[in-house]
Amino acid sequence: MDETVLSEVLQDDERRRFKVYTQKDLDTIVQLQALSEETRFEMRVVSSILPFRVNRYVIEELIDWNAVPDDPMYQLTFPQRAMLPEHMFEQMASAIRGDATRADIQILAQKLRAQLNPHPAGQLEMNVPKREDGDRVNGLQHKYRETVLFFPGQGQTCHSYCTFCFRWAQFVGDKDLRMATTEAAAVHGYLAEHREVSDLLVTGGDPMVMKTKHLAAYLDPLTAPEFDHIKTIRIGTKSLTFWPHRFVTDDDASELINLFARLIKAGKHVALMAHFNHWRELDTDIARSAIERVRRVGVEIRSQAPVLANINDDPDAWAKNWEMQVNAGIIPYYMFIERDTGASNYFELPLYRTYEIYRDAIRQLSGIGRTARGPVMSAGPGKVEIQGVAEIHGEKVFVLRFLQGRNPQWTHRPFFAAYNETAVWLDDLKPAFGEKEFFFEQEYTAMCDQAGVM
Ligand SMILES: *Cc1c(COP(=O)(O)O)cnc(C)c1O
Ligand code: SF4
Repeated sequence: MDETVLSEVLQDDERRRFKVYTQKDLDTIVQLQALSEETRFEMRVVSSILPFRVNRYVIEELIDWNAVPDDPMYQLTFPQRAMLPEHMFEQMASAIRGDATRADIQILAQKLRAQLNPHPAGQLEMNVPKREDGDRVNGLQHKYRETVLFFPGQGQTCHSYCTFCFRWAQFVGDKDLRMATTEAAAVHGYLAEHREVSDLLVTGGDPMVMKTKHLAAYLDPLTAPEFDHIKTIRIGTKSLTFWPHRFVTDDDASELINLFARLIKAGKHVALMAHFNHWRELDTDIARSAIERVRRVGVEIRSQAPVLANINDDPDAWAKNWEMQVNAGIIPYYMFIERDTGASNYFELPLYRTYEIYRDAIRQLSGIGRTARGPVMSAGPGKVEIQGVAEIHGEKVFVLRFLQGRNPQWTHRPFFAAYNETAVWLDDLKPAFGEKEFFFEQEYTAMCDQAGVM
């Protein structure tokens, strides 16, 4: 082979190999060397507290380094000073500048993380289900009747980390915050006992970091007759953004496609619940190839993502995101509101603003692009959608409804909250029309008491 051709092939092969960078590798990322000393120090400080992980594909093909620091793909993955409250930043900065040992820094980091609401909405306490014999099934969450969430042990990391991730705490080694299991038998046992469950949602982290053979060990058994009630297998993933090679060029990519084919042949609906914050994530050749390959075998791709300051707080960016998705055969599903955890101050938007962004984006699309519901808060009592802002008998109100309720009877029941321009989450809202509480509150409080929360 001609030398130059050979070197091109090698380069190409090299680019397809997954290479990851974490905090200790910050200095080896050449693109960062163009940034100021100060910016790089700030990254070091922030990434001692919040998780940082990025891979070569993101650095070389997603981020536009000419547009840094405003580039949304850079904001999505690289730590920024303002992601931490100022006092926290200062405390960690002086520890690092001073003569603190690595152990001291670890202890300080743990202390500061605990102040960032690492586990919002009582998930661990309230949603871990029990077997008929009373044993807890770790790694499962069963909050809404028809859907069980499953956190496989090998899938609790991601190809890169999003700076806003509400699951950030599990990536910084807080073992008791991890919701994982490796016990396939316990999961299958629970699903066999629960005929009311129609959907299994495999989630993480990102389950697509798993080798196909591990994923197959969990999913292939579901084609047996005792799991006929499990109609839909969803996989929550950001791999179409962070490592589309998973579906195209990885060693076990074809095996993965075959696994999907087997599940579909056995009558399951298989869906990737893909996380796309911004249209730029869809705009590479390898992402297009991955989408095409999974769609061709019959997997549906539905998309969901939070709306975030500094990344996608722009109706036009959302309209383009959804438009490109529809064009690629992806079905827009949810626009989420960011939870109150980790770096949420940096990303949070007032509720009224999330609604305006949704509305002004949706208006630009045909009905085919309007399948995205939202903006939605995934809160303790359920998934609450902001339907709009209205004036009723002279009072300005938020019109809300449950898309999912801890009690299925709450679903699609509209309710009203007094308009509040600074509210960023359900907790900030009060009932409209002088009512004392929302219709679900008593029942929800009783549910919390019963589970021993609060
Ligand atoms: C969002 C969510 C689901 C799935 O809800 P759908 O409306 O069916 O998409 C299931 N469980 C939990 C805990 C969720 O937050
Ligand atoms: S891919 Fe998902 S789980 Fe992973 S860091 Fe991003 S938001 Fe969090």
